[in-house]
Amino acid sequence: MYISIDDTDSKDGMCTTYLATELIKEFNDLYLVDHPRLVRLNPNVPWKTRGNGAIVLHLGQGGRKKRKIGYIDEEIYLYEGDSTFLNEALERATAIVEKWACDSEGTNPGIVISNQRPGIELYKKAVKDVVELTEVMDILDGGEYSYKGYKNKRGLIGATSALSWEPDDHTYELLTYREDARWGSERDLNDEDVKRFDIETLYTFDSYDHEENIQAIAPNSPCPVLYGVRGEEPSELMKALSMIGGERVERWLLFLTNQATDDHVQKQVIGRLRPWTSCDIIGEISRSPWTIEGGHVFFDVDYNGNTVTAAAYEPTKGFRDVVKKLTDGDKVRVIGGVRKDPITVNIEKIEILELAEKKIKKSNPKCPDCGKRMSSMGKDAGYRCKRCRIKADEDEAEIVTVDRDLEQKYYETPVVARRHLSKPLKRVEKL
Ligand code: ATP
Repeated sequence: MYISIDDTDSKDGMCTTYLATELIKEFNDLYLVDHPRLVRLNPNVPWKTRGNGAIVLHLGQGGRKKRKIGYIDEEIYLYEGDSTFLNEALERATAIVEKWACDSEGTNPGIVISNQRPGIELYKKAVKDVVELTEVMDILDGGEYSYKGYKNKRGLIGATSALSWEPDDHTYELLTYREDARWGSERDLNDEDVKRFDIETLYTFDSYDHEENIQAIAPNSPCPVLYGVRGEEPSELMKALSMIGGERVERWLLFLTNQATDDHVQKQVIGRLRPWTSCDIIGEISRSPWTIEGGHVFFDVDYNGNTVTAAAYEPTKGFRDVVKKLTDGDKVRVIGGVRKDPITVNIEKIEILELAEKKIKKSNPKCPDCGKRMSSMGKDAGYRCKRCRIKADEDEAEIVTVDRDLEQKYYETPVVARRHLSKPLKRVEKL
């Protein structure tokens, strides 16, 4: 039996993954028969709280209810049918969700309980694009699903879509939780331990930002999570429990997840970009980078007859220095989320495919008679020697080729600004 839930938290508290731990407690008469799953969906939907994550539990039927109805050499039991069982499970899950979910405006919990999964196509759409509630209701009403959607029922979209995820690429996240008396207070976590964990463990990623010198495992919100460490190998992640010092870990749970897989990226988009999706475009920079107030950096890129503005916002910190070195004529591949109004690509990764030759004027031409530097006569108007009155064309100035200080490779946003679904270059061999 699967239990899937979504949309139970708000910015002010709670975390859907914490609810997973409470559900496991409630269903202790059943067995977990697979890793609990933390499934991230389209990071560009505007109504997400934070990381657009839903959770799925797969429980075995160890405690399924039975009724004695006879004795023929041995006791004969009638096992209650699945739908009764699912409805009963829904009642129990509902009580947990109602106890723990946030009751704030943007929170619209969804619970789905079933013995079957919807086809993977639903996950593929939900991680890349926008899914309508009607699409999900058609699935839920067309199969053996017990479900409950609260308020605008939007949580059913995430819960049903997460249920349909069958991992192709996958990673793990070990999440630890705080004692409830500490929720909302500042987290006590030893930064140096996190740094050491990041350096010394194998196949873990995004724990520490060595450029910004800051740990990246604790959330900033007042939710019950103490920290989450990510990686490919459960045994390596488990080392966090002994390596990372600080406040007491009240509970912990290892999740199988689609984080760091780039599952959200639509491969090689050719036509116009659609808002609230992610894209992967190859093109030529048609307007060199410019910076606006607040430190956000932009450039225009032409791809397949279209032009779009790409952005490296202030939170991407040092990544903006890479972007600023780009120039018109460079051929690049841009991977990122598509924002609406105006359509802009929020860059997650950029691959430099070809660097254009960039030339700048080093100095004005020398006068052939007196040898002194000539003066400019205005923009594109050429030069003139003040003393000898001799003129020179624009292209006679001394031009030098600029060292681009960029390599033909991928550059990515720093750990602190990275999206849950973005595949870090550390695991990019599979790109
Ligand atoms: P957290 O990660 O902290 O648990 P969140 O960022 O997951 O929070 P939610 O509160 O779950 O945010 O809100 C996301 C909402 O968007 C949910 O109601 C979910 O069902 C819905 N949703 C998720 N993916 C899609 C999609 N592709 N199309 C339409 N709605 C979606």
